[in-house]
Amino acid sequence: MYDVTVIGGGPAGLNAALVSGRQRRKVLVLDAGSPRNAPAQEMHMFLSRDGSSPAELRRIGREQLLTYPNVEFREGAVAGAAGESGAFVLTMADGSVERTRKLVLATGQVDVLDEVEGLSALFGRGVYHCPFCHGWETTGLTLGVVGRELPQIMQALYLADRFSDDVIVFTDGHPVPEPAAVKLAAARITVIDTQVTRIEGEAGAVRLVLDDGRTVERQAVYHRAPTRQHSDLAEQLGCRTLPDGCVRVDEFQRTTVPGVYAAGDMARLEALPDALTFVVTGAADGARAAVWLDQELFREDAGLNG
Ligand SMILES: Cc1cc2nc3c(=O)[nH]c(=O)nc-3n(C[C@H](O)[C@H](O)[C@H](O)COP(=O)(O)OP(=O)(O)OC[C@H]3O[C@@H](n4cnc5c(N)ncnc54)[C@H](O)[C@@H]3O)c2cc1C
Repeated sequence: MYDVTVIGGGPAGLNAALVSGRQRRKVLVLDAGSPRNAPAQEMHMFLSRDGSSPAELRRIGREQLLTYPNVEFREGAVAGAAGESGAFVLTMADGSVERTRKLVLATGQVDVLDEVEGLSALFGRGVYHCPFCHGWETTGLTLGVVGRELPQIMQALYLADRFSDDVIVFTDGHPVPEPAAVKLAAARITVIDTQVTRIEGEAGAVRLVLDDGRTVERQAVYHRAPTRQHSDLAEQLGCRTLPDGCVRVDEFQRTTVPGVYAAGDMARLEALPDALTFVVTGAADGARAAVWLDQELFREDAGLNG
């Protein structure tokens, strides 16, 4: 029986395990090894690690974690989660079973990149989802924005505001509502509403092939892809989700299921308009979950509840 099992070995899960391990808890980390930023060569906005490799961050994180003898790290996917606070049962994809008193879910989100052929192959290498992560590096480049939905399309306004004077929106055959079209025109953003057949090329030279035979060259393309939960474990456990699919947590990173905490991209406070999906905020969530979870264990063991 572990005190704490962390599912997911990205920045959120690794930091939760580090904080729990340092409080002498018996900790298990289970990780399937496919983090969201796997396609990216660089990560930004993490103090002292700006521009470094995300894979290297995880490698160092695991290495430091394993200096604590009470922490175990195991590669593999968790297929099933059931039980209640004090007695959760996890079933691994290989059929093995683990038992734990408390759970931290840090399984992340997946970008769904099926809107246009070629998006997936160039994702993180010419096609980007987030101006916070990649905006600086695309300053002054010719930019394309691909999207059918209004929030995707309006990302163009944001990019034109600070990163480029040459932004084209590709709405993939969908019309732009009148008020939005006026705003885009005022920002001198061109709209191409022809269907995009495919996207090809490489970082710095991306080609959008249109249904009418035209090809448009851009140095970088933005696409705010829809996201989904990387795993259905929160759903299996009965955790409440918000309309955008994020798991609802409170200020303590607690889900609506007692004993189950959630951290990182997969979870957010209901009061926020959107999830903050960054490495640094994931790591902070993980630390927060581990601290409050530790207090919960301490109070239970010391008979301080109620
Ligand atoms: C292309 C790209 C570039 C990015 N660049 C930046 C950047 O520059 N700066 C920045 O701050 N953010 C960046 N991000 C966002 C960043 O990747 C995420 O915010 C961060 O990875 C979230 O960490 P996490 O721990 O919540 O999830 P992840 O890092 O996604 O880790 C989740 C882990 O859980 C594992 N897992 C899932 N299901 C299971 C299961 N059932 N059993 C066991 N393990 C499981 C996964 O395999 C994975 O290893 C970028 C994202 C992308 C897509």
